[in-house]
Amino acid sequence: MPYIKDKFYSFHMLCFGAILLGWIAFEGALIPNYAYYFLWQSTFVFLLLAIALSIYFNKSKLFVLLLFPLFFNLALAFPTTFFNKLSVTAFWHIAPLCTALGFLIIYALQERGLFSSFGLVRSSIGLFFLMIAYTALKNFSSEMQTALSSSLLPASLGKLTKASDFVTILSVISLSFILLISLLFEAKSQKAPFWMLFAQMIAFLFLHDKNSFILFSLITSLIAIAALSHDAYRMAYIDTLTGIPGRRALEEAFLRLSSHYTIAMVDIDFFKKFNDKFGHDIGDDVLKLIATELSHVKNGGKVFRYGGEEFTVLFRGKKKEDCILALEEIRESIFKRGFVLRDKERPTKAPHPIREKKAIKKERLTVSIGVASSSKGKSPEEIVKIADNALYQAKESGRNCLISL
Ligand code: GH3
Ligand code: MG
Ligand code: MG
Repeated sequence: MPYIKDKFYSFHMLCFGAILLGWIAFEGALIPNYAYYFLWQSTFVFLLLAIALSIYFNKSKLFVLLLFPLFFNLALAFPTTFFNKLSVTAFWHIAPLCTALGFLIIYALQERGLFSSFGLVRSSIGLFFLMIAYTALKNFSSEMQTALSSSLLPASLGKLTKASDFVTILSVISLSFILLISLLFEAKSQKAPFWMLFAQMIAFLFLHDKNSFILFSLITSLIAIAALSHDAYRMAYIDTLTGIPGRRALEEAFLRLSSHYTIAMVDIDFFKKFNDKFGHDIGDDVLKLIATELSHVKNGGKVFRYGGEEFTVLFRGKKKEDCILALEEIRESIFKRGFVLRDKERPTKAPHPIREKKAIKKERLTVSIGVASSSKGKSPEEIVKIADNALYQAKESGRNCLISL
């Protein structure tokens, strides 16, 4: 889990950093005016690239959300083609309003792929919003402006942004809702929409300048691309059940190995019996527990799920003796820990070890380990085979032990 957590935090830092940089670049006038023309071209290219990737990865949420900045950039690029004449006031009223409301509604719908009836509904809602935006931009009147500009906040609060009070309130609601949902359902929801809306809202609420919208739309597209690449990386390299890197990541790691390394193959003892006795779900919990325990291995070992109930620990540039010590420590701690079963009727909290001693049902849980170190002329795959033989011998010797060859 810490592996994914690191990634999660680094994604947030990346988004925050990009937005902050954009703000500094704009406010500090670090980008010369003529450069915005090229920036605009890039914005379209990256928005289209992000849209193409979202279609490829079947992500309906991101696909629809990206249509918003694309539409409003097109509106700015062709003010006379699509509209009789796009009014600047209309743009700064309608664009933030539709974006904030659109993100709120689209985000609230569950992700179920683009090529499904659900995806179709989401896309239709998005297009419906953009149609309304188009109509409102085209027929923007002074009555609409008066209605949207009415004062709803105390003057001191209203002055914090350049947008109308209504837009400010809606933006704050939308951003808070998306942040709350993405924090509550961390694993299932995507984090990118919050930052995508945040980036656009900086231009809409605080900067009110065409160039700022172009710049922050570019940042929005980059955030979406980063999120999609991050997802693709996780799909390819991270094991979904345990949250640690999987077999493919191990194969990649083998390509980057130097000449000295140690490989350990770790296998849960009598796991089939465990599954048969307590069911597959408890079996899955055991796999997660073992993955977490193994992740604490010392001496710089990196843990991978090799497949099924078998794990690989890879020590780069480490001597076998030091690795054996670190692995023995983990084997011992798994043996001592066991696996505590909790009744379904009981609360999810762990029982107090002394007060509720009788309520704890501790199951025996052990692992066997086979270790082998690199040797001249042998590939990492061959070393894995040797470690596997050692593991077989550990099983033959009664399990819950380590054999090194
Ligand atoms: P040994 O001590 O010799 O290793 O015996 P074992 O029962 O652990 O080994 P065996 O290879 O006979 O059984 C492995 C079991 O692991 C069979 C399979 O159902 C279970 N298994 C593999 N992957 C998963 C998984 O993702 N979740 C669960 N719950 N079980 C799994
Ligand atoms: Mg086993
Ligand atoms: Mg096995």
